[in-house]
Amino acid sequence: MTEAVLPAALAEIAGPQPRRLTVPVKVGGVEVGGGAPIVVQSMTNTDTADVGETVKQVAALARAGSELVRITVDRDEAAAAVPHIRERLDRIGVDVPLIGDFHYIGHKLLADHPACAEALAKYRINPGNVGFKDKKDRQFGQIIELAIKHDKAVRIGANWGSLDQELLTALMDVNAVSEKPLDARAVMREAMVQSALLSAVRAEEIGLGKDKIILSAKVSGVQDLIAVYRMLAARADYAIHLGLTEAGMGSKGLVASSAALGILLQEGIGDTIRYSLTPGPGGDRTLEVKASQELLQTMGFRAFVPLVAACPGCGRTTSTVFQELARDIQSWISTSMPEWKTRYPGVEALNVAVMGCIVNGPGESKHADIGISLPGTGEAPTAPVFVDGKKVATLRGAGIAGEFKTMVNDYIERRYGLRADAAE
Ligand code: SF4
Repeated sequence: MTEAVLPAALAEIAGPQPRRLTVPVKVGGVEVGGGAPIVVQSMTNTDTADVGETVKQVAALARAGSELVRITVDRDEAAAAVPHIRERLDRIGVDVPLIGDFHYIGHKLLADHPACAEALAKYRINPGNVGFKDKKDRQFGQIIELAIKHDKAVRIGANWGSLDQELLTALMDVNAVSEKPLDARAVMREAMVQSALLSAVRAEEIGLGKDKIILSAKVSGVQDLIAVYRMLAARADYAIHLGLTEAGMGSKGLVASSAALGILLQEGIGDTIRYSLTPGPGGDRTLEVKASQELLQTMGFRAFVPLVAACPGCGRTTSTVFQELARDIQSWISTSMPEWKTRYPGVEALNVAVMGCIVNGPGESKHADIGISLPGTGEAPTAPVFVDGKKVATLRGAGIAGEFKTMVNDYIERRYGLRADAAE
């Protein structure tokens, strides 16, 4: 047998690069950047002028875990509704900070509706469509002055779909006469970065503190997004909002966003994130919150809800017992979490494993805090349960699911209930 050898110097390659230190920004009561935990945000898709529907959706997003919620402010009726939305949310105990999304006429809406300007915690503006030609600088300046007056943060969010055309044309002209012209896409990426940075510098010149500025530069291509944010992060220390714009529907949107955001977060880039998913008609908007949380948790940045590791199943799991138990445990955890969060501090870091057969079942279950290895096809109808790496029981018969849930409950009570008592 070959002798086991450990390399003399074991390189430590696991884990993300250190978080890039940015200037912290307070958005309402939420700290973004400066080493604070990466913040989850989302955006409504209701008509903001419809106060009832918007309150309902903001509350749903906040209860799902969104720490900041953005709403569209596109016309007078929407701006007039904002203070009422804030007031109703406060009345039902939802204190999530609201961000106003402004395009074209933000300067006018904020000036004409001071209660809206006051109720919002942050203004999001896009340097590509804040105004055109001679109006651009003036209207941008007006918004920044209003942010200073109301002591609000501003996100300067460049977007591939509405890139500052004057800046792009100027850079294309320079590129055309350079000795080694870049390809057009590279120039567009540079324009995105410059658009955000030049606007931030201009905002500071007007008097907005660096601690009031968050930058984003969203594009819809994964590789472009990674390149743009790397450039942005290398050139300044403003707090950064990450998001892949127009990510799309279903698995495509989830995969593309996770790939892009995951790589950037691993490199230490990003202080707040959003999944820009397209819901199906009548679809659940809170999916974008869940996706952000799961990305942050699976990458080890934050913990929101106990994770269930389940094997994919294969030809060894011909019955549906395994899928049913995995689904059952997952949904039981989700529905129990609101209560668990207050009764069992720290429970969100719990790891549960539900495995389909003896091949990887016992091993994976031992790595979890509590895990069960169900019998695969042809195996004896028994299910060993492992707690903190040790086999503690073998379940049999039709009541396996119920008995396992009781064991998970007992484990949570034992491990996290004590902390609750100690905290009292
Ligand atoms: S643990 Fe067993 S059932 Fe699950 S995927 Fe592996 S071999 Fe298949």
